[in-house]
Amino acid sequence: MDLLINPPASRIQICLFKSKRAILLPRNYKISAMIIKEAHIANLHAGPTLLARILKQTYWIVGAKRLIRKIVNKCVCCRYHSKPVKQLMEICRRLVSRLDELLQTPVVISQDQSK
Ligand SMILES: [Zn+2]
Repeated sequence: MDLLINPPASRIQICLFKSKRAILLPRNYKISAMIIKEAHIANLHAGPTLLARILKQTYWIVGAKRLIRKIVNKCVCCRYHSKPVKQLMEICRRLVSRLDELLQTPVVISQDQSK
């Protein structure tokens, strides 16, 4: 009650003020998923652990970790940007094996006899 009359001054006091009055949300409500999606995008596609920490400051979503993991795993951007590394490694491995094949095959240089 004292905080409502005298607003918090420092950043630490503001964080404590917010975390003490976290908004309780059930996991199966659509607004919970919408808040998580918005926070995921606003925080540059943050991972599940970071996202849980960020959301905990303002919201208390019951069973949030599982819901956050589900939403992050479904994110198209995160999936798109995580795949190329694996594909690139596969391409490099194929190129190296192909290069080994090419280096082992003898090169035949034909001489043109029409000159
Ligand atoms: Zn994402």
